[in-house]
Amino acid sequence: MIILGIETSCDETSISVLKDGKEILSNYISSQIDIHKEYGGVVPEIASRHHIKNIATIMEVSLKEAGITLDDVDYIAVTYAPGLIGALLVGISFAKGIAYGRGIPIIPVHHIKGHIYANFLEHKVELPAIALVVSGGHTNIIHIDINHKFTNLGGTLDDAVGESYDKVSRVMGLGYPGGPVIDQLSYEGDPNNIYMPEPKVGGYEFSFSGVKTSVINYVNKMNMKKEKYNPADIAASFQNRVVDILCKKTIKAALEKKVKNIVIAGGVAANSLLRKELLCRAKLEDIEVFYPSIKLCTDNAGMIAAAGYYKLVYGDSDKIFADLKLNGIANMEIEED
Ligand code: ATP
Ligand code: MG
Ligand code: FE
Repeated sequence: MIILGIETSCDETSISVLKDGKEILSNYISSQIDIHKEYGGVVPEIASRHHIKNIATIMEVSLKEAGITLDDVDYIAVTYAPGLIGALLVGISFAKGIAYGRGIPIIPVHHIKGHIYANFLEHKVELPAIALVVSGGHTNIIHIDINHKFTNLGGTLDDAVGESYDKVSRVMGLGYPGGPVIDQLSYEGDPNNIYMPEPKVGGYEFSFSGVKTSVINYVNKMNMKKEKYNPADIAASFQNRVVDILCKKTIKAALEKKVKNIVIAGGVAANSLLRKELLCRAKLEDIEVFYPSIKLCTDNAGMIAAAGYYKLVYGDSDKIFADLKLNGIANMEIEED
């Protein structure tokens, strides 16, 4: 069974071919990072225009690499929510065109479920599990039951983790995206050099604006006094605090929900300290941690095809397929999918 995956929710145009829900035959990703870098973040209008310019070629390349043609495709899995609306509509419209022309059913996919299912492509994840979703736009703790039903236990009250990485990087003039830069730089710094407050939010909620503002205020103060600061110390102190917050709440969720498996999902799942630290702390509680390889952490259509496959197998029968009226939705809770 062949699923064609399509992802255009933000600034990556990606098309994948997935065989039998497990084997990625191709997963071509065209990133617009270099285009948006200039502006310090993603410009929605520009993102949509690049998706529409490139998507047909990307499909051709992906099909060729997989060694198949559209005749071999059984289902199309496309991201329909959440994301930048204009960007989502490019992938959705493209999917509809193929569906209409070829009579192939469309499976609409929730982008965050895509991030989570990236783990299932590479690991045998036993359910129930807790998913820590950490990306450019999301920071959530999600419970997944044995029937693949998702429940959001809590999320951020302000900035997403990836977003605060990007802002911290920007204030120090280190460019976009900030995550990989800060991650690397942190190894040259002292994590105890600069005080980072621990947010006072209960339950499974997060807040990163305090930590982010500490960095911004510190940098502005040093700049005003024309004093030098060490960006590596800031990177290390910031990363240390952020990872500590994420680990504490994720382990707490696993223990309280009596779950023995944790998956990390989203762009920030690529973070080296988060991977190491969560694995280490979970081990002490006899909990297993899974994370995708770096390529599958940030946006890609392989994970969308995988989520499409699991929707086909476990989804509510009235929600598995979409007709040609399918629309994009900018904001959507995971339970609404
Ligand atoms: P969403 O999935 O919420 O819609 P998105 O698709 O824009 O948002 P992703 O592509 O999942 O986000 O992730 C991008 C984010 O991941 C960026 O904010 C980037 O800085 C961050 N990131 C990437 N690598 C790392 C890393 N090693 N450490 C920390 N953050 C990272
Ligand atoms: Mg991106
Ligand atoms: Fe994403």
